[in-house]
Amino acid sequence: MTRHARVTAWKLALLAGFAVQLLLIVFVTAIGLQQLEITTGKLNQVVDVHMRKQALARSMVIDARERTMRLLMMTQLDDPFERDALLMEFHKHGGAFVAARQALLALPLTERERRLIAQQGELTRQAVPLQNEVVELLSADRTQEAAERVMQAANPAQNRVLETLARLDAETQRTALAASRQARAEQAAARRWIFALAGAALLVGVIVAAIVLYFSARISREREQLATHDTLTGLPNRMLFMDRLEQSLIRAQRHETLVGVMFIDLDRFKRVNDTLGHATGDLLICEVARRLRQTVRADDVVARLGGDEFVVVINDVAVLTPILQVVEKVLAVVNEPYTLDGRELIGSCSIGVSVYPVDATESADLLKFADTAMYHAKNSGRNRFQLYDATMNAMAEERLQLETDLHYAKARGEFVFHYQPQLNLETGRLHGVEALIRWQHPEKGLLSPAAFLGLLEESGDIVEVGARLLHDACRQAAQWHAAGHADLCVAVNLSAVEFWHDALPDRVREALALSGLPPHALQLELTEGIFMQDIDAAVARILALKALGISIAVDDFGTGYSSLAHLKRLPLDVLKIDRYFVKDIHESPFDEALVSSILALCRGLDLGTVTEGIENRAQLDTLRQLGCQIVQGYFIGRPMAAAALTGLLDRDWLASLEARPGQMSIA
Ligand code: C2E
Ligand code: MG
Ligand code: MG
Repeated sequence: MTRHARVTAWKLALLAGFAVQLLLIVFVTAIGLQQLEITTGKLNQVVDVHMRKQALARSMVIDARERTMRLLMMTQLDDPFERDALLMEFHKHGGAFVAARQALLALPLTERERRLIAQQGELTRQAVPLQNEVVELLSADRTQEAAERVMQAANPAQNRVLETLARLDAETQRTALAASRQARAEQAAARRWIFALAGAALLVGVIVAAIVLYFSARISREREQLATHDTLTGLPNRMLFMDRLEQSLIRAQRHETLVGVMFIDLDRFKRVNDTLGHATGDLLICEVARRLRQTVRADDVVARLGGDEFVVVINDVAVLTPILQVVEKVLAVVNEPYTLDGRELIGSCSIGVSVYPVDATESADLLKFADTAMYHAKNSGRNRFQLYDATMNAMAEERLQLETDLHYAKARGEFVFHYQPQLNLETGRLHGVEALIRWQHPEKGLLSPAAFLGLLEESGDIVEVGARLLHDACRQAAQWHAAGHADLCVAVNLSAVEFWHDALPDRVREALALSGLPPHALQLELTEGIFMQDIDAAVARILALKALGISIAVDDFGTGYSSLAHLKRLPLDVLKIDRYFVKDIHESPFDEALVSSILALCRGLDLGTVTEGIENRAQLDTLRQLGCQIVQGYFIGRPMAAAALTGLLDRDWLASLEARPGQMSIA
């Protein structure tokens, strides 16, 4: 799952969490309210019904008791008026008793209550005729008899009624109590429910909050990691590196120790990217990062500044030696072969070193100086280290200036070809010319490729500049052809970036078509290093170029990765013997034997040869004796502007060489 998809999924999950929590709260509130309503209703009912029942039962008891008392009092009084008053009260209580009983019966009653009321009804039915009998005796003024009847019959019957009523009263009290207890229990249950659900909602809330906290912390951690670390290797980036370096310097100042800053740049990394692709380049960077991390101590800092640039900070050392030991170790581990994508690769790096407090005390200066020293290491042949020294600053500035100038030179068309003659010793005529790039610098004058070619290759500008110059060379050669030198060849050098560039075959075809130069008159010179990365692809590319009708030469033969196996596999036309073999040929039988063997080999393989770097007559004579046919060098002629060469095309070269002093040409 991608990071974006992960974040979206978590956002959705969080949203769902919040929604569930919200629903739960609504649910809990609804259920809680409903339960509360029910229990409150029940409680109200208990209060209403049972209070009324109790009141009615109690009023029945009181009325019955009052009736009994009135009856008894009537038998004690002689005054008929007073007796009548009591009789009225007696009847009134009877009415009230009946009304209360009726009301009680209309209420919801328990089985036991109902039974007690029925029993009371039965007893009252027995007591009433006895009471009526007493009332009649009184109205007949038979007071003595009435009193006796009350005591013997009416009162005992009424007492039984009163007993039943007392039981009814107790029963209504008991049911009221039980009902209120039950209602209270239900209310407690409802409360428990509400508490449980509220607790669950709270728990969900806490979980959701915890998840939010966890992920916001994680996202901010990831953000910080992204801002401070290199995504490819996971090493600290420039920002974090500067921070760590500052801390190292503060510590070193306190402990009075040294800090070493190593600026590491992989050699020819661009070539790996251009020839094997960026994916392999990335793998190489990761592997180098891993090796660097393994080489230094845990408290030393390793960071990637970008591209193929790494920095290492060596902390807490008292003298320079341990720093140099780490530097040598780094050189060694980077030098070990790499197996990337099933392909074996050789790598190296150049290292610049600055030391606190010897070279500088500020972190930015230390980094800048280590960088400057690294450039020196690179320029003095790569795969080595260089300690910073103060004189390097001026050179670094010069280089910066050169880079700026180079940027404008392309647009201003300051790059031109100079042409160096290649002489055919058998015919005495020019076989061809090698086109060599020059920079017509507005202030510094004519600059050789050594001063700027590396920069052009690094920036990739060489592709565009080379394509333009190829047009120039073809046009120039076509002019010479038109002027009557139709057998003249022109050789143009290519660097790795140009060779592997997809558009190369098209550009060559275009240059030939636009200039009208016959394809066999164009030769492309390649150095052996170009093929090394991928021989199969190189063969395919060379065949594609040769299909256009041009020829291919291998340049500087014998100085690079020379392998006879390549000579067999690569469909080459010409081999250029490097001047290294020519230098001492006139006085070293060994070199003579070497060149002689190379020439024999080329004859055997049907390869043409051009021998480079002839600077004096002795070298030329030796080569002539060895049967060398095409030669090139300062003794024949230096690289020169096209116009200068035009004037020399018709020259009798052999005669003019005879007339020349033994050393170098003046041309
Ligand atoms: P190269 O292709 O091997 O070119 C021969 C170099 O040797 C030239 O140096 C030439 O001036 C020099 N040379 C010729 N004769 C003698 C001699 O007798 N003695 C000595 N000591 N040197 C001699 P230059 O022009 O400085 O070019 C250096 C290299 O730059 C070339 O080596 C070639 O690899 C590269 N180069 C030159 N022009 C171009 C270009 O247009 N494109 C690319 N990609 N590379 C170029
Ligand atoms: Mg060359
Ligand atoms: Mg050469």
